[in-house]
Amino acid sequence: MRILQPVPILDPSDKFRPEKSEEQFRDFTENCEYYDRVRKTYDKMHSSQTYEFAKNKMETWGQLNKAEMTIMEVLDMINSLVDESDPDVDVPNSVHAFQTAERIREAHPDKEWLQLTGLIHDLGKIMAIWGEPQWCVVGDTFPTGCAPTDSIVFGKESFVNNPDVMNPAYNTRLGVYEENCGLDKVIMSWGHDEYMYRVLKGNNCTLPEEAMYMIRFHSFYPWHTGKDFNYLCNEKDMKMLPWVLEFNKFDLYSKADELPDPVALTPYYQGLIDKYCPGKLKW
Ligand code: FE
Ligand code: FE
Repeated sequence: MRILQPVPILDPSDKFRPEKSEEQFRDFTENCEYYDRVRKTYDKMHSSQTYEFAKNKMETWGQLNKAEMTIMEVLDMINSLVDESDPDVDVPNSVHAFQTAERIREAHPDKEWLQLTGLIHDLGKIMAIWGEPQWCVVGDTFPTGCAPTDSIVFGKESFVNNPDVMNPAYNTRLGVYEENCGLDKVIMSWGHDEYMYRVLKGNNCTLPEEAMYMIRFHSFYPWHTGKDFNYLCNEKDMKMLPWVLEFNKFDLYSKADELPDPVALTPYYQGLIDKYCPGKLKW
C-alpha cells in the first residue's frame, strides 16, 4: 500500500484532471498507466480471497470494535490513501469522495441522501489504513463460494491459484448457493463495500435502502455492468440494480472532474451527515 502524505492544498483553480472520454475509463489492458500496480493487486486478490477467507473477514470486521469515529474524521484519514486497484484515479480518496458527491448534487439537487451516499461510499477503505492489504479492501468484488466467470476483471484464469477453484463444493456455477437465493445471502469477496454497509447498518444510520444497496454492491462490476451472476439474484436485487447503475455513473466519471475544495464543501455535507449518520460511529 502506498501511503502518501496528507494533501493540504486542494485549490480548485490550481489543478485540473486531464480530460478523459467515457470509453477511456476502466482500461485494464497494458495501455493503462497504472497497469502493473493494478494487475498485482487483482492477482493477489483472486488467489487469496476464498469463501472461508471472506467469511472470516466479515465476522472480524463486522464486530465494529476497531474505533469510534465520525464520518468526517474517517474521510480525513483516507486522504492519505491511493487505491492501487483503480486504473483511473491517482488522487487521494477524500478527493474522489467530494467529486462523486458534487456530481450527484448537480444531477440530483433534491436527493440529499444520494449526495451523502456519494460522499461516504468508499469510507470502508479505512481498513487499508488500519493494516489490511489493499487486495482485501479495494477493487471490484465477486461472489465467493461459487465458480468465477470471465465477467470478473482479468477473467477466470486469474483464479488458478485460488484453492477454491479446486474444491468441488465451491467450483460449480452455484457452489454453496441456491438459484436466485438473493445477494444478501452471498458471501462477496471482502472489501470496502460490504464493510461500509455493515458500519452503516450496525450504527442504525437512516439512509434509505437504495443507498445501502449502492454502497454494498458498487464494486460488483461483474453484476451491475457485466450483467452476470443474475442466477444469484432475487427480485429485490433486480429492482435495486438501476439504482446501483445510477450511482456508478457518478462514481466512475467524476474521476475526471476538477479538484473540489473540501474546506468550502464541508459545512454543507456536515449537515447531511448530521441528518443521516450523526456523531461518532462504531467502526
Ligand atoms: Fe469503491
Ligand atoms: Fe468510489
